[in-house]
Amino acid sequence: MLNFNLSPELKAVQKQARDFALKEILPVAWDYDQRDETPMHILDKAYDAGLINGDIPTAYGGQGWGILEGVLATEELAAACPGLATSIFDNSLGMEPLILSDNEDAKQKYLTRITQDRKFFAFATSEPTMGSDVSSLRCLAEPDGDGYILNGTKFWITNGGIADYVTVFATVNPQAAHKGICAFVVETNWEGVRAGRHIPKLGQRPSNTTAINLKNVKVPKENMIAPPGEGFVLAMRTFARTRPSIGAFAVGAARSAMEYAIDYAKKRRAFGSKIVNFQGIQFKIAEMFQKVETSRLLIWKAAWEADNGMDPTVSASISKLYATESAFEVVDQALQVLGGYGYTRFFPVEKLLRDTRLFRIYEGTSEVQRIILAGHVMGAYQPVMPPLDDLPIHSRKDYPNADPETAGDIWRCRMCGYVHFGENAPEECPYCFFPAAAFKKIEHP
Ligand SMILES: Cc1cc2nc3c(=O)[nH]c(=O)nc-3n(C[C@H](O)[C@H](O)[C@H](O)COP(=O)(O)OP(=O)(O)OC[C@H]3O[C@@H](n4cnc5c(N)ncnc54)[C@H](O)[C@@H]3O)c2cc1C
Repeated sequence: MLNFNLSPELKAVQKQARDFALKEILPVAWDYDQRDETPMHILDKAYDAGLINGDIPTAYGGQGWGILEGVLATEELAAACPGLATSIFDNSLGMEPLILSDNEDAKQKYLTRITQDRKFFAFATSEPTMGSDVSSLRCLAEPDGDGYILNGTKFWITNGGIADYVTVFATVNPQAAHKGICAFVVETNWEGVRAGRHIPKLGQRPSNTTAINLKNVKVPKENMIAPPGEGFVLAMRTFARTRPSIGAFAVGAARSAMEYAIDYAKKRRAFGSKIVNFQGIQFKIAEMFQKVETSRLLIWKAAWEADNGMDPTVSASISKLYATESAFEVVDQALQVLGGYGYTRFFPVEKLLRDTRLFRIYEGTSEVQRIILAGHVMGAYQPVMPPLDDLPIHSRKDYPNADPETAGDIWRCRMCGYVHFGENAPEECPYCFFPAAAFKKIEHP
C-alpha cells in the first residue's frame, strides 16, 4: 500500500527541526557566513535538542531514527542554513559506516559514548589527490602487531577541525585499488593526528572543512570496521544511505529561495503593477514549486527504500542528482526574481546560491551519480518492452492484399525495419540492400 501521509511521529520530528531552524539557526546564519566560522554553541544546542545523532539505534541509547526522519529534519535545518545543516548532519555521515559494520564492540564503545557525551564524528574517504575515484585513495594502513599504522592525508573533511572521531578509509596496498581498502574509527586526540587550517570556501561557510593528517598513527585492531577488501563496499553502502539527505539539503535551500522570491514578488512593483501579477514571474514560481515538490518525492522514496530493507543505491543517486541540480536552478531563478537586490548581501538568496552550489559536488558529484545510473540502466535494469527486432509494429492486418495462404512467413530487416512476406527472406533488402542474413523471422498476430 502506498501512503504519502506523515505519521504523527514523523510530523513531530519535522516540527521540532523546523522550530529549531527558525529559532536558533536562521538568526545567526548570515553572521557566521560572513565570519567563515562554525557557531559551536548552535551545534551544542542541536545536540541537546536531539537533532544530532537521531539515527543512533536505540540499542546504543539513540533515538533509532530511520533515513526518513533524517531527511525530514535535514530539509528544515537546511532551509535556514545549508552550511550549518551540513555540520549538524555530519555525525550521521561519520557514524553510518560504524552502524553498518559488524564490529559490535566498536559500536558499543563509540555509539554509546556519543549518546552520553557531546562528541563529533567526521567521515574521511577524500584526499588531496582524489575524491570521486574512491578506489584510488592512498592513505596507507600497514599491519603492526595486532593493529595497523596509518599514514596519509585526508582532505575536505567536514567538521575535521572539531571532530572527536573520524571514520578513516585507508588501503593496505594502493595498487590493489578497491581490494585493498579498509576502514577504521580514529580518535583525533591520538598521537600523530592533526587537523589542517579551515579551508576557505565559496559557500556553506559556517560548516568547518579541513584536512586531517595522519602520521604513524597506531590504530588498535578493535577499531577496524572494515577489513581490507571490504572498505570500498562499506563506503558505497554508506553513500547509498546518506545521499537522500544531500537531496534534502537541496530541497530545504530551494524551498527557502522560492518562498523569499514569492514574498518579494508580492511587494515589488514595476510597470504599474506588482511583479507577482506578471505571468513571466508566476511561471518562474510555478517551476520552482514543481522542482521542490518533485525532488522531495524522490528523496522520500529513496529514504523509504532504505528504511524498508531495500538497496537504495539507485533511488539515492536519482534523488541526489535531481534535487541538487534542480535546487541550483530554483535558487538562481529566485535570485532573478529579486533583480539587483538578489545579487546583494542584504538579501538571503545570494548566500543560498553559494551554499547550494556545493550539493552537486560532495558525496558524489553529479557526474558520479550519472555513472551509477548509467551502470544500472545498462546492467541490472529489466526492460518491459520487447527488443526492437521483435516489435509487433506490422501485422498481417496491415497488408490486406497479402494472401494468408501464399504470403508465407514474416521477415523483418534488422537494419532498416522493412517487413517482407514470403517463404524465405529476400536475397537483399529492397530498401537498405543488406543481404538475406540481415532478416529475422518474426512471430506476429
Ligand atoms: C565543502 C566540502 C566538504 C566535503 N566534505 C567531505 C567529507 O566530509 N569527507 C570526505 O571524504 N570528502 C568530503 N568532500 C570531498 C568531496 O566528496 C569531493 O570533493 C567529491 O567527491 C569530488 O571529488 P574531487 O573534488 O576530488 O573531484 P575529482 O574526483 O577530481 O573530479 C573532478 C571533476 O571530474 C569529474 N569526474 C571525475 N571522474 C569522472 C568520470 N569518470 N566521468 C565524468 N566526470 C568525472 C568530477 O565529477 C568533477 O567534476 C567535501 C568536499 C567539499 C568541497
